[in-house]
Amino acid sequence: MPDLQPWQLERRYDVVVVGGGPAGLAAAVGAREQGAERVLIVDRESEPGGILQQCIHHGFGLHHFKEELTGPAYAQRYLERVLEHDVDIVTDAYVLDVDPTRRVSLLSGRHGRTEVDAGAVVLAMGARERTREAIRIPGTRPAGVMTAGFAQKLVNMAGYLPGRRVAILGSGDIGLIMARRLMLEGAEVVGVFELMPHANGLTRNVVQCLHDFDIPLHLSTTVVRIHGHDRVDKVSVAPVDEALRPRMAEAWEVPCDTLLVSIGLIPDNELARALGVRLDPVTTGPVVTSTMETSRDGVFACGNTVHIHDLVDWVSQESQLAGGGAGAFASGRRSSADNVRLVPGRNVRSCVPHTITTDREHTVFLRVTKSLAPCSLRLGEVYERPLRYVVPGEMVTLKVRPRFLQGFHGGNLHVDVVPREEAAA
Ligand SMILES: Cc1cc2nc3c(=O)[nH]c(=O)nc-3n(C[C@H](O)[C@H](O)[C@H](O)COP(=O)(O)OP(=O)(O)OC[C@H]3O[C@@H](n4cnc5c(N)ncnc54)[C@H](O)[C@@H]3O)c2cc1C
Repeated sequence: MPDLQPWQLERRYDVVVVGGGPAGLAAAVGAREQGAERVLIVDRESEPGGILQQCIHHGFGLHHFKEELTGPAYAQRYLERVLEHDVDIVTDAYVLDVDPTRRVSLLSGRHGRTEVDAGAVVLAMGARERTREAIRIPGTRPAGVMTAGFAQKLVNMAGYLPGRRVAILGSGDIGLIMARRLMLEGAEVVGVFELMPHANGLTRNVVQCLHDFDIPLHLSTTVVRIHGHDRVDKVSVAPVDEALRPRMAEAWEVPCDTLLVSIGLIPDNELARALGVRLDPVTTGPVVTSTMETSRDGVFACGNTVHIHDLVDWVSQESQLAGGGAGAFASGRRSSADNVRLVPGRNVRSCVPHTITTDREHTVFLRVTKSLAPCSLRLGEVYERPLRYVVPGEMVTLKVRPRFLQGFHGGNLHVDVVPREEAAA
């Protein structure tokens, strides 16, 4: 992988992209295509590609490349595009700070502590996993408790098997994928325990990773205690009531030597927070406009650092847009200001972007709060679309075309998802 020598790193770039995962790679391409001459990607890992490098399973690129690729293959495709676009890449370099003048401070063994000025910045730092500490599971602190993503890195990149008899807490995609992976490696997965009454990952992952391997999925159930001295030897699990409180009288014990925790990702937003970017309290990522610009002029954001995606294809699409916005900004061009604020309404947890315009087409990503089937998605009083089903684990993607908003001249637009019979009434 070509990495810049210290004398090749310029003092000023049109666009600096923080993070070289799928979001950062697509943003760099977008920036170049929208007129940025000099674009730099900085990543703390030794190879760009982000989380995709450890996802050796298939399932990437169906929308974007119309074929099913592994994570590293998808990353490689994008990396080739980045290199064709003559983008500089610095790896093994940690971005410490982005200041309001868009001066980016980075630290690396090769470049030391360096500052680079940017015409525009794209934040693409991805997300990190919630750990056992985030939900405070009582019990001892033996070896064998780890996040599912860390286990994935151990198995797929370092070649270690983290355990032989594995319980998994949480049914997010990483946990589901790891359930299958560990079975394929010869471990026994004794069960996936999910607090909510529904699985949190994609339906295709529930089917392909659990059902196909006869791994039991226990819904409305959680781990209430971890046991073991040096190593985990069992966990206690219990069903939960409607308020998600464990029913301890019905708890049972599950012998295992490993507990994988797959309880969600949190946008990596430290740089954004330090920069004073406005954050959405629900997604915990930056509030963004239709061009993915944050509340700081010339600072754009995309990918998992804005909101957690389940498909990398949407990350690439959104990030190309963010990079395009950054490229245009650095070249002194700005698109018209947004005149519509999307307000998550009934059964809708979040909407990204947070604002759009009435005169262009936009892709809006929604998360719902509960499963509904069949149902209707409504944009205020002006547009309604039937949906077969929605589940909280799957992002809803809606192309909002100018004709949908005919007669709406701006302001707050409530986004609701309602049961079909109610919509018809
Ligand atoms: C286990 C797992 C399985 C998945 N399976 C699928 C699947 O089957 N199909 C699918 O389509 N999608 C899948 N996804 C989702 C997809 O991989 C993610 O949506 C995508 O990787 C998010 O891209 P990103 O660039 O925002 O973040 P990341 O891929 O996390 O990249 C962020 C990058 O930023 C760098 N970085 C962060 N902070 C700094 C800093 N301060 N300085 C320098 N660099 C920094 C990191 O090193 C990293 O390289 C999966 C995700 C996971 C975790």
